[in-house]
Amino acid sequence: MLELVNINTYYGPSHVLQNVSFEVKKGEIVCLLGANAAGKTTTMKTIFGLVRPKSGSVLFEEKPIERTLTGDIVKSGMALVPEARRIFPRMSVLENLELGAYTRRNRVEVREDMERVCQIFPRVRDRLKQVAGTMSGGEQQMLAMARALMSRPRMLCMDEPSMGLSPMLVETVFDTILRIREEGVTIFLVEQNASMALSLADRGYVLQTGKIVLSDSAKNLLTNDLVRQAYLGGE
Ligand code: ATP
Repeated sequence: MLELVNINTYYGPSHVLQNVSFEVKKGEIVCLLGANAAGKTTTMKTIFGLVRPKSGSVLFEEKPIERTLTGDIVKSGMALVPEARRIFPRMSVLENLELGAYTRRNRVEVREDMERVCQIFPRVRDRLKQVAGTMSGGEQQMLAMARALMSRPRMLCMDEPSMGLSPMLVETVFDTILRIREEGVTIFLVEQNASMALSLADRGYVLQTGKIVLSDSAKNLLTNDLVRQAYLGGE
């Protein structure tokens, strides 16, 4: 469904993504693990056209999108939950959700989706009129996910959904990711929280200083020596 082929992305002279290739198949949850500054966010930005790769291609449902505008990528069926949530803090929860549907024209469908999203996220429904920036970190993460779903994506990409959340909230967020997958949405997430991400994912890749160094089933990665030492605290 999503494929990166030999992607090279630079910031000025700095070669941040080096021949990065991986794929996410329809219906899968795939995680990309990596330490600080490994290039995880840059990978997301490259997928969504927020930075342009110097070479290589990004294919979504077999069509190249590495030169496509971000808004058109969202319209074509892939949504992003950005790092640190990036909700619109001064707007209401409802306005944030409406903005998530900005690519959509059919108001009846948008209303139906608002209902569906509120069922998945009851806390969001209870707070539609609240100013989004006054919600807790966990609630803001839920709102960011709900907003992304308002574009009715077939694929959802999430940048460190567990960041800054208590272990209990991380579990809630991850349970919600499973529920979203059950609704037929394919999921790609980048995470530093390797144990949680691998407990949820089908497969994973490990990114080290801009290169993919490992690729395996989540089950095998959990017992892999490199992963255990570098990302699971040597447990
Ligand atoms: P983190 O978990 O800290 O967000 P990350 O794996 O997402 O890490 P990136 O944000 O993709 O890492 O950054 C990869 C490298 O690129 C880092 O060395 C970072 O300093 C550098 N970098 C990121 N954004 C820019 C930018 N706009 N200009 C120049 N260098 C950048």
